[in-house]
Amino acid sequence: MSECGSGHYRHVLNDAPCELPVGKVVCVGRNYAAHAKELNNPVPESPIIFIKPATSIQPLSEPIRWPGGLGSCHHELEISILIGARVTKQSASEVVGHIAGIGLGLDLTLRDLQNQLKAKGQPWELAKAFDGACPLSGFVLPAEFRDLSNIQLALRINGELRQQGNSSDMLTPITELIAYISQYITLEAGDVVLTGTPAGVGPFQSGDQLTLILDERFQFGAKVA
Ligand code: ZN
Repeated sequence: MSECGSGHYRHVLNDAPCELPVGKVVCVGRNYAAHAKELNNPVPESPIIFIKPATSIQPLSEPIRWPGGLGSCHHELEISILIGARVTKQSASEVVGHIAGIGLGLDLTLRDLQNQLKAKGQPWELAKAFDGACPLSGFVLPAEFRDLSNIQLALRINGELRQQGNSSDMLTPITELIAYISQYITLEAGDVVLTGTPAGVGPFQSGDQLTLILDERFQFGAKVA
């Protein structure tokens, strides 16, 4: 699969289109304790895993949209991991060599709909897996980062700092998370792992201008339609 919902998304690595196919996005809920708290959710005992399909991916540079009539759409800023080779039932030390790139993504969430679905005990797929629900930045090479357990991420909206975090605060660190997922779900080359959002989630407003900042060195712009 080299195309997805918006029809023209390609992974970008080091500012160049990347040959890896576009696959699924495997995500984790409540991977930062402070975010679990802000939504009055318990801190989970093991990672909460869900999937966004390839059709939910769009370039971060495209205007952010969501289905109308379903209430608020929240931003969740997350470190994204581009998988470079098949990962199945591997250990944390084994998965390190299969990380092709590191970037930022938005786990767009129809929060009102998600709350309704959670109240009914139903899966929250419709709130998180709709077309365009996963805007992704380009990826940079993992060699750019000395320590995967010390990567900063920040989101500014209209210039104001709204989300800030560090992978050191993850309940399940990046390589452990990928290893955990791979015990159940095989990750293929071109799949993406979203690693959870720090605190500060909130609703978008039409026209919002976003700046996503990875490790204080890499900046990506985005805009709400
Ligand atoms: Zn999320």
